[in-house]
Amino acid sequence: MGRPLDQRLFAGGAADALRAAGDCLAVAARERTGPYSGASPDELAAIAAGIEPFPEEGIGVAAALTQLGRLAVRHGVDPGHPACAAHLHCQPLAAAVAAAGLVAATNQSLDSWDQAPLATHLEGRLVAGLAARAGLDPEVAGGVVTSGGTQSNLMGLAVARDAAAARSGRDVAADGLGPDAGRFRILCSELAHFSVARAAAVLGLGSRAVQPVPVDGQRRLRPDELDRALDRLEAAGQRPLALVATAGTTDFGSIDPLPALAGRARERGLWLHVDAAWGGGLLFSDRHRDLLAGIEAADSVAVDFHKLLWQPAGCGAFLVRDRALLGPLEVTVPYLNPDPPAGVPDGWRMPHLVGWSLATTRPFTALGPLLSFAAVGRRAMGALVDRTLELAAAAAAAIEGEPALRLAGRMTSPALGAVPFRYVPAPDEPGRSDRVNEAIRLRLLAAGQAVVGRTEVAGRVHLKLTLVDPTTSEADLAALVALVAATGAALDHD
Ligand SMILES: *Cc1c(COP(=O)(O)O)cnc(C)c1O
Repeated sequence: MGRPLDQRLFAGGAADALRAAGDCLAVAARERTGPYSGASPDELAAIAAGIEPFPEEGIGVAAALTQLGRLAVRHGVDPGHPACAAHLHCQPLAAAVAAAGLVAATNQSLDSWDQAPLATHLEGRLVAGLAARAGLDPEVAGGVVTSGGTQSNLMGLAVARDAAAARSGRDVAADGLGPDAGRFRILCSELAHFSVARAAAVLGLGSRAVQPVPVDGQRRLRPDELDRALDRLEAAGQRPLALVATAGTTDFGSIDPLPALAGRARERGLWLHVDAAWGGGLLFSDRHRDLLAGIEAADSVAVDFHKLLWQPAGCGAFLVRDRALLGPLEVTVPYLNPDPPAGVPDGWRMPHLVGWSLATTRPFTALGPLLSFAAVGRRAMGALVDRTLELAAAAAAAIEGEPALRLAGRMTSPALGAVPFRYVPAPDEPGRSDRVNEAIRLRLLAAGQAVVGRTEVAGRVHLKLTLVDPTTSEADLAALVALVAATGAALDHD
């Protein structure tokens, strides 16, 4: 036998390791000067090439953190920096980071009750509470914590597909897609998230089964165009089965008209999936909850806790109006969730979540939102959500105040914090505009000064600010917008 194992390698060392990680963060924070180091992909590839992934001998947690931990932080982007505003990429709440430490150290796994006893019930509370906020009946609704909107959208469309097939007597889970499936269609806004088309591809319907519907001037799905599309599909013998409404489009933050779409879904017998990956945070707002009016009519909903609501990546939720609809995902595994044997003592029927998720081993990420709401409170959390909408308005105003910058369409109705715009070169010729705007983004990134989004609107390269950090100030935004304008001027006249 070898030496007795040092218990500090495992859980016995977790508290010290977490403290050392905290020290590593503090050092990195002191060293930081901007939202990014400015290192190029080639420089980072060279740094990564110098890291031996499986070194023969270890050096201990503290030294590993000094070597590798600090490097990882130094060359990460800092989503908490006010000039980091490219994506739906938030800085986490302190409480959420504490939760992540506890989740990792205690490592409950939600695939069976005996690996996650209280965690199983607490995830259930989170999901039921979210369902209630969305106006679903929490006694009937079901749901599960997911890795995010992509997985939640996949689940929503899987359940929609299976429910539609079941109406014509087909059990897709058991028998696969039937001959009808080639006619299945999914409708959504032309600005819906790409994960909708991807879900259709994975589900065997094909991404071309997704029919994009035009949006109005406020970038919301047009119900009249939806009617036309549905009439056309039905006349062509296709079988529309689901309507995806987006509450928070990625480039514009626009919210589809949920009440009108709910009405269409009801009239036409369509499954209504609301992709509120971003907009779901509004469920907690006192001022703007009404922007989600109509969500209570959804058959399924996707909400991300890792956008608004400020959790570390990998934390979303999937809700379904009636948990019985999750039937096609159900599994019975003798070693996880066997049928309870006869004579189970009172109070010992174990609920298992394995049949509600596409994942098996699954972390207790639900602790993050629960601990965060416990620490911050629903009211203050809602106010943080509201603040991001104010910041979007402030950013738009700052952009309008710069003669060389132009917003990509002014949205008059309140929308979530996405502000696409471009630097307008002189002369404003498309190739030149695209080049200058690409160059602005790259120069700011390479200088480590700002991380600004890049997208395309009507085929033209645009910059974009995505405002999900409530700690940003109006002055920060004014400085960022001025920096973009000055960088554009310098590049345009190079
Ligand atoms: C972010 C987002 C997604 C994808 O969600 P992930 O959490 O990144 O998987 C889907 N839909 C919308 C509207 C989103 O904003």
